[in-house]
Amino acid sequence: MRTILMALVAAVSLAASDYKAGIGRIVITPEKPIYMSGYGNRNHPSEGVIHDLWAKALAIEDHKGARVVIVTTDLIGLPRGIADVVAVRVQQQYGIDRSHLVLTSSHTHTGPLIRGNLETMFALSPADSQVVSDYAAKLTESLVAVIGAALNDLSPASLWFGNGRATFAINRREPTPNGVKIGENPKGPTDPDVPVLKVAAPDGKLRAVLFGYACHNTTLTGEFYQFSGDYAGFAQIAIEKANPGATALFLMLCGADQNPYPRSKLEYAEKHGADLAAEVNRVIGGPLQPVRGATLAAFQSVDLEFAIHTRETFESRLKESNVYRVRHAKAMLATYDQGYPIRRYPYPVQAIGFGKDLTLVALGGEVVVDYVLRIKKEYGSKRIIVAGYSNDVMSYIPSLRVLKEGGYEASDAMIYYGLPGPYNDDVEDQIFRTIGHVMKRVKR
Ligand SMILES: [Zn+2]
Repeated sequence: MRTILMALVAAVSLAASDYKAGIGRIVITPEKPIYMSGYGNRNHPSEGVIHDLWAKALAIEDHKGARVVIVTTDLIGLPRGIADVVAVRVQQQYGIDRSHLVLTSSHTHTGPLIRGNLETMFALSPADSQVVSDYAAKLTESLVAVIGAALNDLSPASLWFGNGRATFAINRREPTPNGVKIGENPKGPTDPDVPVLKVAAPDGKLRAVLFGYACHNTTLTGEFYQFSGDYAGFAQIAIEKANPGATALFLMLCGADQNPYPRSKLEYAEKHGADLAAEVNRVIGGPLQPVRGATLAAFQSVDLEFAIHTRETFESRLKESNVYRVRHAKAMLATYDQGYPIRRYPYPVQAIGFGKDLTLVALGGEVVVDYVLRIKKEYGSKRIIVAGYSNDVMSYIPSLRVLKEGGYEASDAMIYYGLPGPYNDDVEDQIFRTIGHVMKRVKR
């Protein structure tokens, strides 16, 4: 009798859960000193750990058995060299195709240098370079493993969506008489939204919360040599502390031209993290929209073309005093020597729809805020998450406005990414045309 009753209770609970969800998590903190990424002025490997770096995976299965997996990492950027290998193995081992897998990075600047990302920022010794290669190999294994763990953990769940708000991001493109510099521009556009996806067990217990913010994960600056997830790491820790047993996953949104304010002190990273966590906790405690529909996924690559360059473009830079520009010019000349100067780059655009209730748009690269503002204008702002730093981080992705204004996000950062130069003026058009295609495939 008791067994029957419990079975009945379970059946009622199951009926209330529209999905199955599974969560995996794995520590990816490097085990030995390694060069840290994000700031070119760093001149030696890491010196310990503030808190662990994590890869976390959220698997969601709809009532038809279709599965999507969203992976978040406390890393500066996952390049396609790693993401594509992980995606192929996940397809082979778990039968999840590329469009149903989202691989993201938080863009922490107190994490390890990742093979294939920001490669021209440092000139490493062979020994230091080997440490980076070894870490990339281990990271690849960890990412496949954490996705497997999430799929193994699938059990009934309900999804809920809400939007919070945070204001510690400031537009960093400061106009000066000599052009746009990285600084503070309180008048520049920002996106204060903090989208929150809550994953609850049938008994209502919080299992996971996926949240995001459009702000560079750069509270901690180049003089910090200890690993941390910066404000996003502190936010995840604080949310998990307030909700024992739950996993918090951070998505970096379109915050390429946004910096945390203030920055450069550990206490500010903790404070921004605490503020963001408090807002996420407030949102998950309040009224939320149920998310119920079947999942649909679309992934499309678009070739973004670079502005015309010639061998002379780079030869003329070899005598300059800026070591990064010279290193970059040499790398670009090598592509000419090999007969394959880089003219275009395959840019990944992905969308995942949950019925009519929620759409996740995942864009590659460091995407400036103009993209999310335009997407929300064209597709509505209430039931959407627009992540950047997804599936590949190959460069900044300027809007036409930013491209025309110039500065770091328009072209200067390319010297660290090992790509030739600014994108063509059609970069925003090309990406929005592709967003249109993937949105059509996931909308009902
Ligand atoms: Zn960045």
